[in-house]
Amino acid sequence: MKIRSGGNDYEGLSYVSMVPYIVVDMFDFRLVDVNIEEETTWVGAGATLGKVYYAIANKSGIHAYPAGVCPTVGAGGYITGGGYGNLIRKYGLTMDNLVDATIVDVNGMVPDRATMGEELFWALRGGGEEGLYKMMVEFQTPQLTFDPYGGLMDKINSNGTPIPNREGNLFKLQYVTNWDESENQRSKYYIDLTRKLHAYMTPFVSNNPREAFLNYRDID
Ligand SMILES: Cc1cc2nc3c(=O)[nH]c(=O)nc-3n(C[C@H](O)[C@H](O)[C@H](O)COP(=O)(O)OP(=O)(O)OC[C@H]3O[C@@H](n4cnc5c(N)ncnc54)[C@H](O)[C@@H]3O)c2cc1C
Repeated sequence: MKIRSGGNDYEGLSYVSMVPYIVVDMFDFRLVDVNIEEETTWVGAGATLGKVYYAIANKSGIHAYPAGVCPTVGAGGYITGGGYGNLIRKYGLTMDNLVDATIVDVNGMVPDRATMGEELFWALRGGGEEGLYKMMVEFQTPQLTFDPYGGLMDKINSNGTPIPNREGNLFKLQYVTNWDESENQRSKYYIDLTRKLHAYMTPFVSNNPREAFLNYRDID
């Protein structure tokens, strides 16, 4: 299932798939309700940035919305991607200015931020894995590198050459921790950090790369 708001995804994730799929098009969810007194605006996922700017400008000559430069980008993809624009130095990203949201999850409608809780609200504003981010900040030293596969690598059959990690692999993950020679007596500490990071990531790495690849392509 693909969810499409403005349809501007750079990789076409909202409308391209390797397998049969349906599109949940948010086009008709494009209400923009501006409240100048509260200085807030409810924006439907399918509303384009141009529509949001126009609606605000119709109500006020001095208010603005800190978002991007392209008027056709949809709020649904834009806000969940962070949202940078010309007002970034004064007001930050669009997601920094997100105060509430209504979403639909597998169980139905979640009406507001208080109901969904702060963890889900965090994820709405950039889709990051909060746990991994916190771990990287806490551990500081280890590095986690995602080397992208796909492309020609994905066209070479796993059995076609002596190097099997080809078709269906999304990334090569590299876990690296460096320390100075003067820190050699603490080497176990640094190696343990790397192991903890590896252990944290293990549940997210499929034993069946082909399945993970297809799932990834089909996830919105
Ligand atoms: C010409 C152009 C100019 C751009 N300029 C800027 C800019 O100035 N600043 C900036 O920050 N970005 C900019 N972008 C990037 C843009 O913000 C992202 O591509 C954004 O994801 C597009 O959102 P969309 O809703 O139009 O796209 P879509 O293709 O509809 O969606 C993008 C992704 O979000 C998912 N998605 C969309 N709606 C929902 C929803 N309601 N619920 C769950 N998932 C959803 C889709 O499935 C897809 O994976 C620009 C892109 C283009 C093409």
